[in-house]
Amino acid sequence: MAAESNLSAVLYGKDDLRLEHRDIKLPGENEVQIAMRSVGICGSDVKYWTHGKCGRFVLDEPMVMGHESSGTVVAVGRGVTHLAKGDRVAIEPGVPCRTCRICKEGRYNLCADMKFCATPPVHGSLCRLYNHAADFCYKLPAHVSFEEGAMLEPLSVAVYTCQRGEVRVGSKVLIFGAGPIGLLCLLVAKTRGASSVAITDIDDYRLAVAKEYGADHVIKVATNDSQALARTIADEMGGQPDVSLECSGVDSSFVTAIYATRSGGVVVLVGRGSLDVDVPIVNAAVREVDIRGVFRYCNNYPQALAMVASGQIDTKRLITHNFTLEDSLQAFHTANSRQSRAIKVMINCS
Ligand SMILES: [Zn+2]
Ligand SMILES: [Zn+2]
Repeated sequence: MAAESNLSAVLYGKDDLRLEHRDIKLPGENEVQIAMRSVGICGSDVKYWTHGKCGRFVLDEPMVMGHESSGTVVAVGRGVTHLAKGDRVAIEPGVPCRTCRICKEGRYNLCADMKFCATPPVHGSLCRLYNHAADFCYKLPAHVSFEEGAMLEPLSVAVYTCQRGEVRVGSKVLIFGAGPIGLLCLLVAKTRGASSVAITDIDDYRLAVAKEYGADHVIKVATNDSQALARTIADEMGGQPDVSLECSGVDSSFVTAIYATRSGGVVVLVGRGSLDVDVPIVNAAVREVDIRGVFRYCNNYPQALAMVASGQIDTKRLITHNFTLEDSLQAFHTANSRQSRAIKVMINCS
């Protein structure tokens, strides 16, 4: 395909998303070239667009957006044996070095040399043609759609989060934030056998969606008093939760999560609020509430794909809006607007 046909959505800076044609090289020895199909917009994408940064990552130069994606293999490098032209694949966006100590220990998500799509300075996959490491592409069974392939990215976050939180049969689970990650955590927690899942949000519509998705309790956050909210949660759930999954990125929710979780329980921090947060750490320490971080996911794409392929989890229901690559800017506006009631915005790049 001619280079000028590689239309790409490029973020130049805060509030400056442009469509432009970019060159594309042939795939490297262990890479595949993918004709992109579905790319989901994530909270982090919106954050880069509205703020020019996300957490510790700052945009210094133009970057192609997109990291939740799938497409069709159109060319393979010489060393690639497990994929062929025509294969439909989901793309795991982070490629680690594979050789450092932490990679060898199996926690490759923490690799210091990770190259992750649409995390500065690495380009993403919101474009027509994209090259990626073949061993981080997963072939989709015929009955799994491209959109479901793209949804494996946020689903992997939820699978990893529930794994870190040790959500299991009989668990009482509290989730902060009924956005895409919170909702996916709800679905995964239920699949893992959680007996009771409560979810909090400030938005009535999102809470109604969570109820529809099977939340046993929905709790509207209408106070800044974390200890009072923790008591309300315990009353509502008939006891304190074993596990709290903080998916809202709101600092006060992290505080509430500590107060709300039962002694000996676990708080998992998925959302990203401020870089420094004041939390009642001594309260957590004396009650042996473990606080665990989550950074993306690690070896979870195969599990996420198996859950979708077997019909255990339906991620399609989260997709509320569809746009074409040409309408990427509108897609970002929609993802960023509360009024749009968007849960997952999907872009079709073909
Ligand atoms: Zn994402
Ligand atoms: Zn490494």
